Amino acid sequence: MSRCLHRSPQGGERIGPVNLTLNALFHSDPVFAGGGGTFDDGVFGGHRALFLRNDHGLELGGGASVSPAFPPVPGTALSTKLKRRVFANLDLAPDLGARIGTLTWYRGVATCIGLCALTFLMAPGFETPIYGTVAPALTGTELDAARAQAIAPLAKGATTGYRVAATSLVAPLTDTPERPMIEGTAKLAFGEGLVAVLQRTGVGKADATQVGQLISSAMPLGDIQSTLLDYQLGRRPEKSQPRPLEKLEMRAAFDKRMEITRVGSTLNLKVIPIAIDNTPLRVQGAIGSSLYRSARAAGAPAKAVESYIRTLATRMSVARLDSDCKFDIIVKQARAATGEVQLGNLLYAGVSGCDEKLQLMPWESDGKIEWFDGLGKGNKTGMMAMPTNGRFSSAFGMRRHPILGYTRMHKGIDIAAPWGTPVYAATDGVVQFAGRSSGYGNFIKLNHGGAFGTGYGHLSRIVVRSGQAVRKGQVIGAVGNTGMSTGPHLHYELYKNGVAVNPRSVAFSSLRQLTGSDLGAFRSKLGQLLSVPVGRGAQQDED
Ligand SMILES: [Zn+2]
Repeated sequence: MSRCLHRSPQGGERIGPVNLTLNALFHSDPVFAGGGGTFDDGVFGGHRALFLRNDHGLELGGGASVSPAFPPVPGTALSTKLKRRVFANLDLAPDLGARIGTLTWYRGVATCIGLCALTFLMAPGFETPIYGTVAPALTGTELDAARAQAIAPLAKGATTGYRVAATSLVAPLTDTPERPMIEGTAKLAFGEGLVAVLQRTGVGKADATQVGQLISSAMPLGDIQSTLLDYQLGRRPEKSQPRPLEKLEMRAAFDKRMEITRVGSTLNLKVIPIAIDNTPLRVQGAIGSSLYRSARAAGAPAKAVESYIRTLATRMSVARLDSDCKFDIIVKQARAATGEVQLGNLLYAGVSGCDEKLQLMPWESDGKIEWFDGLGKGNKTGMMAMPTNGRFSSAFGMRRHPILGYTRMHKGIDIAAPWGTPVYAATDGVVQFAGRSSGYGNFIKLNHGGAFGTGYGHLSRIVVRSGQAVRKGQVIGAVGNTGMSTGPHLHYELYKNGVAVNPRSVAFSSLRQLTGSDLGAFRSKLGQLLSVPVGRGAQQDED
């Protein structure tokens, strides 16, 4: 019983007019009326109501809840008066820190020791754990009964309910009537031919071969995009024969449906085109507190938002964009008349409505697709790639030469790497020199257009020829120890206007600019894109 917990230090003495009012309220409460019989007057009920919520269960109102520690209330029954006389001065738990040595103190010690001993005797002991009960594992008929009522995963058979074995009353059927028609969906698995799939579903070899020929006459079988074939098999004259194929349907491509139907003894193919609307999807809105969340909320697909942010980040600090700025995202989209939507790449990334305005559109120039802004300015090419995997062992600048022994200019940086480690072109360029060059040993010099060039020395191997075009990251040679070198390493130089500069201090960046007819075509495509209405538009994309 929780009564004692609710006891106030002053006990009943605190009961005042307020409590009596509460008592009047709670006395009719069934919770208290039901079990409150031992309370000799309503004051206790009222007192309880101060501390207990009336949503407590009946058990809290039980008769046993009278607490002896609760001081009695004056002017009540005879038993209470007796109790008060006998136990008034009996303190069962005296303060053992006060009045040490008195009879009451000794009695208190004895009570304490007694209670401790009782607790100790009743306890199971430290070495004896208290086990919870665990039901024994089911076996035999009990297990069968439990299994029959359990829900099993389909993969494990999923049979539920009791099964009755066949008795002598059950006669096996010699023959069963066939379903007149079978409809189903077959799945084209990877690496499995159409004809094989059809045969696996029960289509006869002749029918399957004919279907294969019909479809391949319309489009190469390898180009089929759909993997689902809806088929319908008809009635067969005999069980030993395969059922004839009555109908076969599939979505061969996003914009094409194929239907094969039986007419008499032959199969006919019908190709049904599906209308496709290629209007790009345009999403616009204010950036607000989070560009990503706002764009997603406005309906832009996650992938498009990600590439939008990545694209913007090449030109501006996306995090510092003002919340008033408007994002403008255009994504390639194809909507089929049947309702399917295919979303493609980002076609346009724009920022408007604030100081930072930007229009970016991808454009193919010199065989490379790059993002250009509204004025036809190209992307900054990224930082130069590390020419090899290794550690910087010697910096650019004046140093004492390890072989010559005197101080002279070190015109590049050294990257120590094991012999044979691949050496990569730091960025796109043309091989200007590839061969032996005295102190450099095997040496490659790349021209990156504009004012920039790079040099790679002490190579063990050269895999490019003079005049060859190389791409960023392409292997051009291997780390070696040729020329004036004390161990395998790459000597790497960067030239700006023909002068060697510290490769680690110069970040490579160059701006491409569209000109002439290229710029004109770019601008007209951009204008066309920008005329796409927000949301679903009616204007057709050119491709
Ligand atoms: Zn060096």
